[in-house]
Amino acid sequence: MSSGVTTLAQILSDATASLRNAETESPQFIAELLLAHVIQQPRSYIKAGPERALTAAQHAQFQRLVERRLRGEPVAYLTGRREFWSLDLEVTSATLIPRAETETLVELALQRIPVDATFHVADLGTGSGAIALAIAHERPRCVVLATDISAHALSVAQSNAQRLEIKNISFRHSAWFAGLRGERFDVIVSNPPYVAEHDIHLQRGDLRFEPQLALSSGADGLCDLHTIVQDAPAHLGAEGWLLVEHGYDQQAAVIDLFSKNDFMEITGYKDTAGVPRGVSGRRPSCAA
Ligand code: GLN
Repeated sequence: MSSGVTTLAQILSDATASLRNAETESPQFIAELLLAHVIQQPRSYIKAGPERALTAAQHAQFQRLVERRLRGEPVAYLTGRREFWSLDLEVTSATLIPRAETETLVELALQRIPVDATFHVADLGTGSGAIALAIAHERPRCVVLATDISAHALSVAQSNAQRLEIKNISFRHSAWFAGLRGERFDVIVSNPPYVAEHDIHLQRGDLRFEPQLALSSGADGLCDLHTIVQDAPAHLGAEGWLLVEHGYDQQAAVIDLFSKNDFMEITGYKDTAGVPRGVSGRRPSCAA
């Protein structure tokens, strides 16, 4: 970048050019997100005033972010933000970056929660709080409990709830059901870690920078799903629902887990990209 360059338009076009070889998504879009973050304005501000200048400090900060992006750091960690279900969420390197495919899990949970119901809902392994906050936001009468084994992640989720002024939610430090003894819920949702620990994808893209704790789960990736599906019946009310997300090649194994644990109405679902992505099932009304 030449030293005399100061306008937003010029800086954006230089950054877009340098990101071009590294991005699979639109390099201009990524450059705009980083620039908007640095000037603390929406992206539209750049379009509305491309001749505006950056301060030297902003310029330097932007250059550092572009360099970090060129080294592969996820955009969400560089800006500290990711939108999920139209909620603007803070994310840090202690939390998984919420994925678009996980919105399908929210949709399916909402289909099982009547608008006027005062259901008790648990989101296990909440990370940034994405799923729990989306459900709490859409179902203000529900009482949502969000748990995580990571105290750091939990504090990010908590600060998201405060900033978004979502009040029908509480937080608990817990490894799956360990901290929920004796408690029952109408709906339990979870997007647990499910990547096999030697999966090559962990060495690629955003996943290299995300917490392994939130991503990988034993040799076949099913270790945590196993615990959740097995322990859920004792924490569901009669006819309560369990909904979990899983990896692209795990649906048969997860359906099997549900049926071995006597769930009814077991259904596998696909995400919006058409990939098998999760399973839901209902606790039998006669179960203890
Ligand atoms: N869907 C994520 C991925 O493979 C993994 C998230 C998870 O393990 N829950 O990119």
